[in-house]
Amino acid sequence: MAVKIIDQHGEVEFIEHWGSDERIIESARMSTGGGFKGWGCLRCTKCGAGFGDAPQYSLIENPHIGCGGNIEHIAGDEKLLAYLWNNQHTTPFEMAGATFEIEAPIFVFREWHRHRTQSYSEASARYIPLANKNYMPTLERIKSGVMLAAGNRQAQGVVKLDESWAAQWLDRLQEVYDHAQSVYELGVNSGVPKELARLCVPVARYSRMRASTDLLNWLRFLKLRCTRYAPGAQWEIRQYADAIENELCLRFPRTMRLFVDGAL
Ligand SMILES: Cc1cc2nc3c(=O)[nH]c(=O)nc-3n(C[C@H](O)[C@H](O)[C@H](O)COP(=O)(O)OP(=O)(O)OC[C@H]3O[C@@H](n4cnc5c(N)ncnc54)[C@H](O)[C@@H]3O)c2cc1C
Repeated sequence: MAVKIIDQHGEVEFIEHWGSDERIIESARMSTGGGFKGWGCLRCTKCGAGFGDAPQYSLIENPHIGCGGNIEHIAGDEKLLAYLWNNQHTTPFEMAGATFEIEAPIFVFREWHRHRTQSYSEASARYIPLANKNYMPTLERIKSGVMLAAGNRQAQGVVKLDESWAAQWLDRLQEVYDHAQSVYELGVNSGVPKELARLCVPVARYSRMRASTDLLNWLRFLKLRCTRYAPGAQWEIRQYADAIENELCLRFPRTMRLFVDGAL
């Protein structure tokens, strides 16, 4: 199901993933003929009953009421996963990956497409008409952008926002969008090829793409674009990156725990 991002048009939809935390271990051990040996768990030494992950240890009775055996902690392959991670042995993390479908303004895609290790498939405005969807920032977004800009050079010395002027600017922006759409439609309806009729649409216009890469390169993307690791990246792309991070946490929980704790 698609997650809504930045306004009523923006979306991130998880399409599929491949591999898993286990597969990463398997590929790392392939060279030595080993495989995945299992995650750490709690186990009764006498009857062998399992009690799941180590974090539940404090909730388990010891000795085991069922048979009087002791509960022991069996170390698992999370140790190897952390070793790979901490020693920059990154290739095994390329054995897993994910694909997302994204609806975002063109200016977000321009930032996104700099990440050259992802594969992209974008809707073609040469063949299908562009829907009249443009990103319209809120006044709040503008205000928070001014605060951020006060700490860098993006505001070019202007660090105080006149809210009534900003509201008027948003109205003017909508006029530009409306005008661009009317020129676009005039072109399409009068037979101008779509590949040229689109010349007037703004970078705020929504486009749609699929983006796919392995887990290692998704993590590199997150490092540069997520709010958690890169608060200086533009707010709009951060919302997309944050949604992708959430999705990857569901699919690769153990790797993502290492990433979130220490980043790459
Ligand atoms: C906050 C921010 C501001 C930015 N501002 C600008 C800007 O003003 N103008 C601008 O043009 N760009 C800008 N960028 C884009 C930036 O320069 C990178 O192109 C973008 O972040 C992609 O990073 P990457 O190369 O690590 O990612 P990928 O292209 O996904 O590459 C991943 C990794 O693969 C390796 N790699 C990929 N290609 C090559 C290569 N050709 N040679 C050697 N190693 C390679 C590198 O190790 C790289 O880190 C900005 C990025 C951020 C996050």
